[in-house]
Order: sequence, then structure tokens, then C-alpha cells
Amino acid sequence: MRSFRCVLEGILFLGMSSVSYSQGCTLGINMPPGEFDLQTGTLPEAWPLNASVQYIEFFGITYGIGGTWYYTSLPAAFQSALEKAYLNWSAAYPLNNSNVTWDFGGISVPVGPPGHPAWHKWIVVNPADIAPYVAITRSSYANYSPIGQVPYIRLVASNTRWSSADTSPASTVAHEIGHTMAINDCENCLAGSAGTIMSYQPQNGWAAPSACDDVQVHLTAFQ
Ligand SMILES: [Zn+2]
Repeated sequence: MRSFRCVLEGILFLGMSSVSYSQGCTLGINMPPGEFDLQTGTLPEAWPLNASVQYIEFFGITYGIGGTWYYTSLPAAFQSALEKAYLNWSAAYPLNNSNVTWDFGGISVPVGPPGHPAWHKWIVVNPADIAPYVAITRSSYANYSPIGQVPYIRLVASNTRWSSADTSPASTVAHEIGHTMAINDCENCLAGSAGTIMSYQPQNGWAAPSACDDVQVHLTAFQ
């Protein structure tokens, strides 16, 4: 893997229209913005520090006209895409300081209401159901209130709907995981290892958080 080491030294440069960080990461150029939950607007949309997240391959139900079409099997290429993207995110955790890990939680297993353990569910749907997107992620929160602390909201569940028409599934998976790791879309950012997985530009097979993604995840959610 990359030998890059993330050492946050704060803002080095306050430019006219951009902010650069010590590793040459510039917001909006090769680094995505942070993502914050919609309830508070200030807490990072990310799994808790040290979280162990179960990812679920969900299929087996098909609704009819006017409903959502869930496919009844997950293409093999999509299964390997999940494994690849999660492995890449796991490799990044020393760099993003999260210690978040992901484990395969099963196929179409029941998942309860938002709670424990944290889970990320993947549902393959008819492309018409989520046009114009290839995939879309929605997250749920719950109040964690450890003894002695005031309750605070953290991400406990995330649900990604994913089109079977996706031609770059590993890149898409890595991007959608990014939405659960406190980084948001940066449509016109550079893509690939020198850019961000949150770019909408062609990733050309890149399916991992970049060095600048690691910086922003660390900065937004895991300081
Ligand atoms: Zn996105």
C-alpha cells in the first residue's frame, strides 16, 4: 500500500479561495468537504471511533409496479467489489485515525432498528429506481449515552441502494463508504490516488480512499 503518512499539522495556507493542508491537500481540488449529519449539522456523519461495522448483502425481495425492485441475487462482481472496497478502507484506518473495521455480516440477514451492532446494508435495485444516481446512501443515528456523558448522536446504521447498471462497482462502493466516514461529494475534484474517491470524475479503477480523503476523515471525525 501507499507509504504516505498522515500527519495533520493544521492549516498551512489560507488562500483566496482555497484551503491547503500540509500534505498538499486542497479543499475542492483534491480533498472533499467533511460531511455532517442532518440532525445537528455539526456532528460528523461517521461511525464511532473503534466501531466494528457489519456489512450486509441484502436481496431476496422483489416488489412490483410502483415499488422498489430488489434483485434476488448479488452479481459476483458486486460481491468482490464490496470485499475490495472494504479492505481498502480497512487499510486506511491507521491513516484516518478511526480504527473502524468492517466485517461481512451475512446475506439478507435481518437487521434490527438502529442500535447495536452498527451495520451497513447494501441493496441492489433496478437502475430506474435511483436514476440519475448509480448509488445512494442514507444513514440513521441513535443516541449513545455512556454513563457520565450527555447523550450524543452517532451513526449506527447506513443503507446504500445500488444500481445493477453500475460499471465501476468497487469505486462506487468505496465512494459510498466515504459517505459513512464523514466525507462528502466533491463532484469536480480530481479523482484517483491524487484526488478523492468522492469525486464524480472517472476513477479509472481506483477504489480506495486517497491520501487526502484520509486527511479529511481524520480532520472531520477522528481527531
Ligand atoms: Zn456521493
